[in-house]
Amino acid sequence: MVQMEQPRKSGSSAGGGLMIEAKGLTKTYGNVHALAGLDLEVAKGSILAVLGPNGAGKTTAVRILTTRTVPNSGIARVAGYDVLTHGPEVRRLIGVTAQDVTVDGLLTGRQNLVMAAQLSGLSRRDAGRRADELLGQFGLTDAGGRVAKGYSGGMRRRLDLAASLVSRPPLLFLDEPTTGLDPTSRADVWDVIRGLTSEGVTVLLTTQYLDEADQLAERVVVVDHGRSIAEGTPEQLKRSIGGARLEVTLSQSARPEVLNSALSPFVSGELRVSEGGKRVSAPVNVMSGLATAVVRALDAAGVSVDDVEVRQPSLDDVFFALTGRAATDETVGANGAAGGGGTGGAGRSGTVEADSSSSEIEEVAV
Ligand code: ATP
Repeated sequence: MVQMEQPRKSGSSAGGGLMIEAKGLTKTYGNVHALAGLDLEVAKGSILAVLGPNGAGKTTAVRILTTRTVPNSGIARVAGYDVLTHGPEVRRLIGVTAQDVTVDGLLTGRQNLVMAAQLSGLSRRDAGRRADELLGQFGLTDAGGRVAKGYSGGMRRRLDLAASLVSRPPLLFLDEPTTGLDPTSRADVWDVIRGLTSEGVTVLLTTQYLDEADQLAERVVVVDHGRSIAEGTPEQLKRSIGGARLEVTLSQSARPEVLNSALSPFVSGELRVSEGGKRVSAPVNVMSGLATAVVRALDAAGVSVDDVEVRQPSLDDVFFALTGRAATDETVGANGAAGGGGTGGAGRSGTVEADSSSSEIEEVAV
């Protein structure tokens, strides 16, 4: 595994600063290894994103940590409680939002929350008060009297989130909370999650969306084939594949030595020329006015430019660099048919171009 930095640890016997601690979790379904030795640590009050493609084992990990299934081996503690031996204590401390929204479409938003609050042990009066509080917090006050089946996907997801918070749990599990939502609804849900963490709620979030992990999480664990293959802050993960990249599209192809000489003051690594010499990409140290300086240098060398972009690497790039395939490659399941490339942390040598074997790609040492 690629470890960017040691996770924070505590010395307390109850896990101290750690809200979640899992070591060597394995889980098999028939001959499918859903988890193959997963380690996770989540510090109290922090938000961890467990990032991985379909079938990576994310939901299985959540199911174990929320006491809905048992591992074949390994240990898992929530707030210091072993999930196998202290299920009731664990369940009292957690809120869970599963992938499928569980609100009752025939009840109003408010009725859904009142019911959830009563099920969590509140009196009718306190349940009503808590429901109103949550409707306000999640921007649903106006919609509270309408039946939930008329809600948009984003509103239903927010109502579901609200329902998992009726008992004010200090730890929240969000299993792919924005899957299937449009960009505006995703942004709304992100705001809600940010609001929760600012109140001190610890969050374990699973996601296939790399920008979601980048937006929300302080730490990210990249999971592939049931085990973690990298861990760090989003920034560390992005930096690990070489920082920002300059991407230049030329009006016409140019000779590599001309590009090399014009761009060498700006680039910090290998220059790659593709698309028949019309597209140039290289790692750069970002500085103010970089794009302008690049255009000027190329212009002075007689090279005409159509487009210049200075792009921060995405977590997609990180996943590709670590596994050799795209995070959204749905053809690879937990037992990943071989074609998907290695799962070790060794990764590929900083190359994030999808088709690096293409004969069109020339590489020029700078
Ligand atoms: P997704 O993003 O698609 O939800 P995931 O990362 O959450 O994927 P899991 O749902 O944990 O992955 O599944 C991991 C593997 O275990 C998959 O191959 C899945 O088919 C298998 N699996 C999960 N639950 C079961 C089950 N109850 N019975 C059989 N196989 C299962």
